[in-house]
Amino acid sequence: MEYISTRDKSIKYNFKEIFLSGLAPDGGLFVPVKYPALSAEKIKLFKDLSYPDLAYEICKIFIADKIESKVLKEIIDKTYHETIFQDKEIAPLKSLDKRFYLLELFHGPTHAFKDFALQLMGHILDYFLNEDSKKAIIIGATSGDTGSAAISGCANCKNADIFILHPYNKTSEIQRKQMTTIIQDNVFNIAIKGNFDDAQAIVKHIFKQQENIKFNKKLIAVNSINWARIIGQIIYYFYVALKLDCYNQEINFSVPTGNFGDIFAGYVAKKMGLPINKLIIATNKNDILSRFLNKNQYDKKELLESLSPSMDIQISSNFERLLFDAHANDSDKIAALMAKFHDTGKLSVEPDILKNIQNNFLSSSSNDSEIISVMQKIYKEFNEVIDPHTATAVKSSYDFANNVNGKFVILATAHPAKFPKALAKAKIANKHIPDNLANILDAKEKFSILHNNPEEIINFIKSNSLNA
Ligand SMILES: *Cc1c(COP(=O)(O)O)cnc(C)c1O
Repeated sequence: MEYISTRDKSIKYNFKEIFLSGLAPDGGLFVPVKYPALSAEKIKLFKDLSYPDLAYEICKIFIADKIESKVLKEIIDKTYHETIFQDKEIAPLKSLDKRFYLLELFHGPTHAFKDFALQLMGHILDYFLNEDSKKAIIIGATSGDTGSAAISGCANCKNADIFILHPYNKTSEIQRKQMTTIIQDNVFNIAIKGNFDDAQAIVKHIFKQQENIKFNKKLIAVNSINWARIIGQIIYYFYVALKLDCYNQEINFSVPTGNFGDIFAGYVAKKMGLPINKLIIATNKNDILSRFLNKNQYDKKELLESLSPSMDIQISSNFERLLFDAHANDSDKIAALMAKFHDTGKLSVEPDILKNIQNNFLSSSSNDSEIISVMQKIYKEFNEVIDPHTATAVKSSYDFANNVNGKFVILATAHPAKFPKALAKAKIANKHIPDNLANILDAKEKFSILHNNPEEIINFIKSNSLNA
């Protein structure tokens, strides 16, 4: 499959190139030249496949020209295995009642849905580095969830050292310990004396300056815009829609949304031919996507702290992929729109383009008190403990239940035990804490506390990375 950038479609790339670079050189995002379309007959054949077998069928479409089938199958079987995702279904579906379902995406090593893509990416990275006999340095900044999922995914990647920066004393204790208790020679956690923006600024600085800094290995970014993250998330839309008999009834998905990666994977599944009715973008009070969808105002505002921290964003990086598709792959137009957004912090689209987007997507938002009351309602009515991110998606599905036909699948993106503060606010006692979460609370930690100073970080990376 060939890929292009959303800001310049004249250059074609292959999967390996886009996987290893993440962001396009022009600042755009990589997307397939054309989304692959599958016939209904073909999709129906996926119905009885196990999760890993279905994952193989989907991944093959995007990757098979760069990783030989047999190897790809091995990678996928290792990734979506009961010992990694601790449920034999991998992504189990639970019904609340006859119309509303929870898709539990939190049985992976870090108990958030990001494991679905990052476990896969760790193995793919190891394969490509081995193939080239290369070693790499992975660098990323995190405010919590992405860091732990990336470390967990890359920890077994023998050819890479991974350095993750987090803001010192500004993540939750559980989030920090999920990163710092993975004690391996190639894993380095750096606590920056600063905030998340400082950590991210240092990572960007290092990438911009990499020619001058002269690392002796390839630098690789972990962030939410790598196309492979989308691939790893398309699979469960197929899995659950087929399980719910999507050829005989309408299926909607409601998705807790921040960077727009997870829900965009649902849109790609729909473009590939999977019959999905509406995709519901659930936001918290950082509601730039709801404002866009309902008022055509994609305007950057101040970042607010909420009870659902992994959705606290000012802008949604993956949204550019949707804009590109909605403008019929007009990369000049997207380059101009994004440049204008960069300068003014505002973006809107032509009415017919918005209308087209609204045919596929709906959106509503939840503030903190709505999050708490939905957690309480679901606990009281169904005896289910849900996390504060999932709560936004439950609330949005209820918002549209009277106007939209069919069943609602709510993506449960994190295990509630990761968010004790929200549970305490809702006065819900969480009876079940997964073993590995309970264990890390007492486990030994390893991390380095460094100043908010790029030179200090660069020296730390150079002196700690293998053979540097
Ligand atoms: C990252 C995350 C989200 C948001 O997902 P996007 O792909 O960024 O939209 C939602 N819930 C949880 C628990 C997350 O970790």
